[in-house]
Amino acid sequence: MAPGINALKTFDPPLHALDGREIEGVRRIGKHLVMDVSGDLHVLVHLMSAGRLQLYDKRASLRDRTSRLLVRITDGRELRLREFGTKQRAWVKVLTAEGLAGDDAVASLGPEAWPEPPDDLAALLAPHGARPLQAVLRDQHVIAGIGRSWVDEILWTARLSPFKRGDDLDEDDAAALRAAMIERLGGAIDHYEGVVQLPIPDKLPLPLCVHRHHGEPCPRCGTTIEAVHYEDYVLCYCPAEQTGGRVLKDRRLSRLLK
Ligand SMILES: [Zn+2]
Repeated sequence: MAPGINALKTFDPPLHALDGREIEGVRRIGKHLVMDVSGDLHVLVHLMSAGRLQLYDKRASLRDRTSRLLVRITDGRELRLREFGTKQRAWVKVLTAEGLAGDDAVASLGPEAWPEPPDDLAALLAPHGARPLQAVLRDQHVIAGIGRSWVDEILWTARLSPFKRGDDLDEDDAAALRAAMIERLGGAIDHYEGVVQLPIPDKLPLPLCVHRHHGEPCPRCGTTIEAVHYEDYVLCYCPAEQTGGRVLKDRRLSRLLK
């Protein structure tokens, strides 16, 4: 069932093609989840920032406004794609193997940031010009799997400015960036495996050091974490360790002052 009618982005094969089949595994491609279903079908899911894929013992109430997609399993359980907040952004596609390989969301992805980021990140980022690291590292076509939270964490761990140009990494910068990707993305998965119990909670305990921590002391050096506010997200960094002590212009403040 697809109560969040906008969530289902494909119609061929239909959702009912999943009836009676077996879920063979779940894996990740970039920021997407893939459920592999017997008979060579694949359910591609993007949770966006507020979605959860949760397994329940009982069927959902039809009044649950967070429900986007409900898959009933023969043992009585129900797999639910739920999404919190007012926006409907999470999406699902039911695809054949060929459809999955050719799907835009998958086919256009850059190399995975985890577990094995590309050896030479300087070479990977160089063709993308003067774009700042905080933008180019979130570009899924350049490198796959890093979003807004983790880009702040990775850059802080690597002690690199979020506004350093992507085509201006020396060997040490690139090595620090690569090590930070492995450490922080791998560390997040270890953390979740340790603390998250079933059923998966609505709110995940994110192991973040700087993202969403502006105004608080940097856990490494004690300097106050600063932020740059954008329309729909906030970038956080430690000025002492990442920008040579400079506090970057906060766009929200400068807009208010105009
Ligand atoms: Zn610091």
